[in-house]
Amino acid sequence: MGWIKKILFYFFSPEDRKPTKRSEKKKKSKIEKWQEYAEKLVIESGIDLDNVLVHSHGGWGLCGPKAYQFENYHVTYKSEELGNLKFPLPLPDKPYIAVPEITGWWEFRAWVHEIGHYTHKHYDDRDKPRFMKEYEAEKFCLEKCKESGVVGDYDMIDIKFSAVGYLDSHIDKAIEKGNIKCYADIPEEVIEFLHQCEYMKNELKRKFLAIEEKYFESQKKFDRYYR
Ligand SMILES: [Zn+2]
Repeated sequence: MGWIKKILFYFFSPEDRKPTKRSEKKKKSKIEKWQEYAEKLVIESGIDLDNVLVHSHGGWGLCGPKAYQFENYHVTYKSEELGNLKFPLPLPDKPYIAVPEITGWWEFRAWVHEIGHYTHKHYDDRDKPRFMKEYEAEKFCLEKCKESGVVGDYDMIDIKFSAVGYLDSHIDKAIEKGNIKCYADIPEEVIEFLHQCEYMKNELKRKFLAIEEKYFESQKKFDRYYR
């Protein structure tokens, strides 16, 4: 097929469009690099490979002391060096990370995020608020992704937005639960982290205006009933 035909074929038959061998190869090598880096980070962070559970049930990860909930999961650890390793399920009190098989940047960031929870020993900490744990894990994730040398600029933008968005969802939960009552309850470093994405500056203001409104509403009710 000549090059003009190729272009027409590309634009007019989107359902037949196939990735070229070159782009497949490029994608594969990127994922291989991510897998390699994630495994290296696990080891560097002092995490025993026995404590890493790799699943293929969607793009989620977990870090915790309890693993009995995974009884029905097929638990294998895929490693370039070691091949496919099946692990016996860890004891319920053994700290672990459960991470998805890496097929794209989303799963890669899940690995780095969960490694962040693990290295901060969040599985042992019942006092730290959840949003602070998520902040520390996301901060770890962004720092490691930046210094890894295996994440390109475009993937870095996706990872940054997802880090800020995810932390924001935990800020919302903390507001709902009453763990955050006003803007001052969020540490400055967390606000700075959220402000990496410009849109969060207005987003945070909007949230706290809403809290203020609710506060004044409840004050008014209080005044009506008790004064
Ligand atoms: Zn997390």
